[in-house]
Amino acid sequence: MTDGEPRADGVARILIGDQEIQLRIGEMAIALDATYGDDVPLLVGVLNGAVTFMTDLMRAMTIALEIDFMAVSSYGAATQSSGVVRILKDLDREIEGRRVVVVEDIVDSGLTLQYLLDVLERRNPRDLRVVALLKKEKPNAIAVQVDHIGFTIPDEFVIGYGLDYAGKYRNLPYVAVLDPRIYAGE
Ligand code: 5GP
Repeated sequence: MTDGEPRADGVARILIGDQEIQLRIGEMAIALDATYGDDVPLLVGVLNGAVTFMTDLMRAMTIALEIDFMAVSSYGAATQSSGVVRILKDLDREIEGRRVVVVEDIVDSGLTLQYLLDVLERRNPRDLRVVALLKKEKPNAIAVQVDHIGFTIPDEFVIGYGLDYAGKYRNLPYVAVLDPRIYAGE
């Protein structure tokens, strides 16, 4: 499925092709539709990385839902989590009593997600669940709640399908491993 797709400069190898992503999102959407039914969940996308996933996921869902976004500080141009998280943009609405679904692009160390969940939990939602497109296989990651995982991937820096390196590559339709020569500055 990943064969034959044109590779952008900076792509070491394609991990998950776009058709494979869409198929998996369809499965996740069916599960979410069944969980929430008529309860009108609020999908909270984490900017900027989760934008692509959010827009595909919400269109694959058929139940009534609402969306909102939060932005948190990321690594900048670094490829490792510092554990320091800052809210750059908060939600536009109250979540008290709502069924909230955090939509994340990728869970790496788990620190960003844990911070977000702590913040949102204090606002007394009816319940709070997490959907992440990608989760890295990382032995030292913290045990953070992720209810639906699209794909478990090896512990490598990935780009594409919303994920960037230094602001670029978000528009690739697939998830790929970044060529290490890019961040080595070669
Ligand atoms: P964590 O706090 O779980 O270590 O990292 C979460 C955030 O770091 C993600 O939402 C994403 O913005 C960024 N991140 C983690 N791993 C990767 C990766 O492999 N590629 C990219 N582009 N961003 C990543």
